Amino acid sequence: MRKPLIYGNWKMNLNMQESADLIASMLSIKIDYTKVDIGVAPDFCSLAKVADTIRSMGYDISVGAQNISVEEKGAFTGEVSADMVLSTGADTVIVGHSERRAIYKETNKEINAKVRAALRNNLKVILCVGESLEEREASVAKDTVLYQVGMGLHGVNMDRMNKVTIAYEPVWAIGTGKTATPADAEEIHASIRAHLSKMFGPVVANKVRILYGGSVKPDNVSALMMRENIDGALVGGASLDATTFGKLINFNS
Ligand code: PEP
Repeated sequence: MRKPLIYGNWKMNLNMQESADLIASMLSIKIDYTKVDIGVAPDFCSLAKVADTIRSMGYDISVGAQNISVEEKGAFTGEVSADMVLSTGADTVIVGHSERRAIYKETNKEINAKVRAALRNNLKVILCVGESLEEREASVAKDTVLYQVGMGLHGVNMDRMNKVTIAYEPVWAIGTGKTATPADAEEIHASIRAHLSKMFGPVVANKVRILYGGSVKPDNVSALMMRENIDGALVGGASLDATTFGKLINFNS
């Protein structure tokens, strides 16, 4: 049985004080932590503040960065290493988000290098995959996604797969208000799990959480979460409001 995970991606929306205010509001919401795991991914500047607030109040909530460098250390101005992320108190990094792929032209090869850099440094990884609208319309959604999964996890040792979560986020559903139907999402999630099974064996594949992302809201979360292979959600817009995010977290209460 995979425990659901609801993860908020705050993107580049909040400064440090606003991040501190949002986490404080979130922590005031009543949540049954035995039923669901939770995480938030603030910007780099707010990671330590958010992680400190969570840990000092004794909560077990994951804190994730939204990106990392493939490099370990050195003359790479503007980059942030996996070790630096860990030193803030964060435990996770989101890799391969569609905005990184589309705007910053991150390739599957770079994304794989980031996944491996994170795992080498003991950071957990949320690997994002998803097809564009053109790819869906050309009926190559599944092929695209499975290729991204295979490339993203290339060379990853199966012993490290307990630190990996996959987020299936159809690009056309991110921030657009459009969601894949639960049946369409489940079909892709099931094929991702079958692919993981081919790569790492069924025991590992059955333990990996596969999140859905793309305009997840309180009114569509339950239908998605009822599906066998949908183990949680990666949430953008709706994670920026504590009450709304709280409703998502408490989807089964
Ligand atoms: C995301 O960016 O990962 C995302 C799912 O965004 P939204 O929930 O706003 O569609």
